[in-house]
Amino acid sequence: MRMSLSVPVFDGLAQVGGHPALDFLNTVKYRSGAEPGERLRSFADCLRWARVAGLVSEAEAAAMPDVNGAEAEHCLRQIITLREAARRLFDGADPQAAALVARRIEALRPVVHIDPASGALSRSIPLHRPRDLAARITAVLAGLLEQRPALRIKTCEGHDCDWLFIDRSKAGRRRWCDSRICGNAARVRRYRAAHGGKDGSL
Ligand SMILES: [Zn+2]
Repeated sequence: MRMSLSVPVFDGLAQVGGHPALDFLNTVKYRSGAEPGERLRSFADCLRWARVAGLVSEAEAAAMPDVNGAEAEHCLRQIITLREAARRLFDGADPQAAALVARRIEALRPVVHIDPASGALSRSIPLHRPRDLAARITAVLAGLLEQRPALRIKTCEGHDCDWLFIDRSKAGRRRWCDSRICGNAARVRRYRAAHGGKDGSL
């Protein structure tokens, strides 16, 4: 399956998960490799990622105070802890991870608005300070977990990749986060294996 060229990119990571919460879980490159590439190294990184993922508007990002302060530092740790626990929910049954993620979701205090004219309900997390970003990411993750039974979420078969994505293909045979990267690499590995390890071109 070919990826659209319009897929947003954050620090060299194409946002190919098909849901912002999966792209959040994919902010580590080559997760199972010898040297995983962490892309959320600071709170400012988290804010930049959230901007790319569409969770935060440009004005909200610009108005965020104290991105280098103590609360931001604490929130970075909270965001990483949440990400790692949420990831474990996709790797197999993990009661501890499930409890941690559930507690974070329980702690959310969304602003609920019901439009008086249409009666339609909406929930939002206002963004005024660093901890609100952690809350907004948690809310997006909650949305994914609610929809999870209806989604075909897979782990990329690429060497050391382990990224998660939603397979929306009709046949349900998507194997790679990005066929141009992990799919191509697998084809090269297969070719080399079939040709005695020689470095032949395809
Ligand atoms: Zn991959």
